[in-house]
Amino acid sequence: MMASKNVLVGQGLEELAELMAEFGEPSYRAKQLVEWVYRPVAAIEQMSSLPLRLRDRLMRETIYHPCSTVTVRRSQDGTRKYLLALQDGEHIESVYIPENDRSTVCISSQVGCQMGCTFCATGGMGFVRNLTAGEIVDQVLQVILDVGRRPSNVVFMGMGEPLANYSAVLRSIKVLNAPWGLNIGIRQLTVSTCGLVPGIRKLAQEGLGLTLAVSLHSADDEKRSRIMPIARIYNLEELLDALHEYAARTGRRITIEYALMDGFNDSPEDAHRLTEILRGLLCHVNLIPVNPIPGGFQKKPRDSQVARFESWLRRGGLVVSIRKERGADIEAACGQLRGRWEGV
Ligand code: SAH
Ligand code: SF4
Repeated sequence: MMASKNVLVGQGLEELAELMAEFGEPSYRAKQLVEWVYRPVAAIEQMSSLPLRLRDRLMRETIYHPCSTVTVRRSQDGTRKYLLALQDGEHIESVYIPENDRSTVCISSQVGCQMGCTFCATGGMGFVRNLTAGEIVDQVLQVILDVGRRPSNVVFMGMGEPLANYSAVLRSIKVLNAPWGLNIGIRQLTVSTCGLVPGIRKLAQEGLGLTLAVSLHSADDEKRSRIMPIARIYNLEELLDALHEYAARTGRRITIEYALMDGFNDSPEDAHRLTEILRGLLCHVNLIPVNPIPGGFQKKPRDSQVARFESWLRRGGLVVSIRKERGADIEAACGQLRGRWEGV
């Protein structure tokens, strides 16, 4: 059966060493194999330094890539969106975002999401299942196979809540970061969470120093609860406490994501409250003009409103940036991923 086959992507050097030992191969094969797995190549056949009989056996008994690229959509601005099929027929999306001096791959951690944020297309599709570490890492490999080079940054900002799939996400981070893996710097890896407090605390204790982004979107518990059901479980006080712990333990500046929604969270009082609750926290605020989704009540603010909100936060002493919208023409912008394409 497919599901019981050993999947190569997602495995570490030690696990591949075990597999090679099981196959009766000399120990140096594991090093050779891991280099091919994460180089990456499209198929086992192309692992040319491995003996043919080993390649044959790997092809018969293992699965190399757990994801396959179904379609790539290209935006005018260079952004690419990937529809990937998983072994069980589910689909996920990943996005490649080239910039001047860097490039970012935005990956999914779950098929769907159970968090139900009202402004998010993924939230609207409900939860299907967690991704495996291999499926998470393979999204980056699929992009590399298409664009021909490694990204400088990887962000868990696609479909799903990464801290609700903690162990697979952590495993994938180890592979993305490892010198034998993708070798992407730990600071270049970002996990974005809607605010799962126990997960944030656990991550703080791993001592990894990866970048944590938190979707705040409102500095008011009642208002936040209206758009993010998770806010009814962990309130802002508990969340901020966990963020202070994360910053203290890792020394890393936290990214506060704030999707500006016209007439909902963009008033001077909203800005004032935000500066109040973030005072003293090592953080910067990333303002994202919301991308309205079909059936949602949120409206995109005008550029001038965004600029005004930014200036209020600056005056309040916060470090602020505005996220440039990328790939909107191919529905690749924040919150637009659904894993379902018309006509595919
Ligand atoms: N589940 C995680 C990560 C995936 S969402 C989280 O919620 O943080 C990545 C980012 O996109 C989050 O900050 C999320 O709040 C934001 N987002 C979701 N829908 C959006 C929309 N319609 N417009 C703008 N940002 C959105
Ligand atoms: Fe899930 Fe994040 Fe979308 Fe909320 S914003 S529904 S947590 S993916």
